Order: sequence, then C-alpha cells, then structure tokens
Amino acid sequence: MLANLGRRIGTLFFGGSCFLCRGRAEDLLCRECDADLPRLEMDLCPRCALASPAGAVCGRCLAQPPHYDATVAALAYRFPADVLVHALKFRAELALAPFFAGLLSKKLAAGERVDFILPVPLSAGRLRERGYNQALEIGRGIARSTAARLAPELCERRRDTPAQAGLPLAERAKNVRDAFHCPRLLGGANIAVLDDVMTTGATLDEIAATLKRAGAARVVNWVVARTFPQVHR
Ligand SMILES: [Zn+2]
Ligand SMILES: [Zn+2]
Repeated sequence: MLANLGRRIGTLFFGGSCFLCRGRAEDLLCRECDADLPRLEMDLCPRCALASPAGAVCGRCLAQPPHYDATVAALAYRFPADVLVHALKFRAELALAPFFAGLLSKKLAAGERVDFILPVPLSAGRLRERGYNQALEIGRGIARSTAARLAPELCERRRDTPAQAGLPLAERAKNVRDAFHCPRLLGGANIAVLDDVMTTGATLDEIAATLKRAGAARVVNWVVARTFPQVHR
C-alpha cells in the first residue's frame, strides 16, 4: 500500500521516466541506469580519495599532506555521473540534490562524528546569478540523515574567482588563495565540507586551511563525484 503510494508520488515528480534514459522508472533513475553509475568501490586513499593500493594513504598525500584530513566520494566523475552533476549545477534540476545526498549518505562511516556540514560557498555574485547553491541543496538531505548541523554561515567566499574548470592545474591553487573567510572562531569543531565535484582539491584544500586557521580540529571532504587524473605516475 505505502510502496504503491510512494511509486505514484514518484511518477508525479519524475513523470515515471528515468532521468537519463527516459525509460520506465520508479525512482529518479531506472534500475539499469542506477547500476551504470560509476560508484567508487576500489581501494582509495582515505585522505584524497584517489586510487591507492590496499586503501593506504597515497604517496602524494604523504609527501605533501593536504589541509583536509579525509575525503569521502560516492562516484567517479565520468558518464553518466557528469551529466547528472551538470544538470543540478547548471539546469536547476533540484530533484537531483536528494538523490546525491542519498548516494553520499550511504558512503559515510557510521562512526565519524561531525559537528557541522559546510557546503562549499559560492560568491554572492554567482549565487545571485544561479539562484541556488547546489552544494547547500545536497547538504539539506545529508543533514537530515546525520546528527550534524548544516552550517553555511561558517565560511564565506569573499571574492569571486574565475571558474576553476577554465584554469590549468598549477593556476588553481593560486586562484583560490585567500578566497574564503570564517566570520567566527570554530573552537575545535569537526567539520565536513560538502561539494558536488572534487577535481584537483585546490578549493577544498584552501577551505580546510581557512577552517583550521579559525580553530577547526578536523576537516573532512564529502563529495558526490571525484575526478581521476588521466595520467598516472
Ligand atoms: Zn534509465
Ligand atoms: Zn592521497
């Protein structure tokens, strides 16, 4: 009875068709498309979420430890995850936010204690232009399933930076330097920073540095999708 009702409500919201293939679906995706999602199930570095044998901290993180302490990612940023992330970010397909929240929630360790969830802030200008912050929308769903409080006010983006995607890798760290600001002290808090995509990690590293300067004890990244470098050395 209830399952039936849920299905009918789902049909109302999603037109009964899969977001990706338009086939018959009871959820946002049909079973086949859902199975095609590039879920991250291989061994990953616990710190940066790139591939690492036996899930050990990778050489890059050992040689040059990032400011964040851990990274949890649900998907690899490739088809069809990239299509879904784009649809939420640029086409206001907000139904994807709780879907991503569900994927990410399943990956989160039950034992990890987090006080606050900070969605990566947009600049005031970009927020006006887009009308919503996709990371904040995803955060609403995750906050409901954890004890942590969604706290976008912990950190602000004080200047507009050119979009990271248009920059060569070496420029990205420079691009975000001093771009963030914590308006109050964070007194030993454990903070999860939430974003849709993690590419080089330059933005997340800068945010973690900013949070720790303000007194955060531990900073972990929760990201929906992780980009994997094409070239392995
Ligand atoms: Zn489908
Ligand atoms: Zn690593």
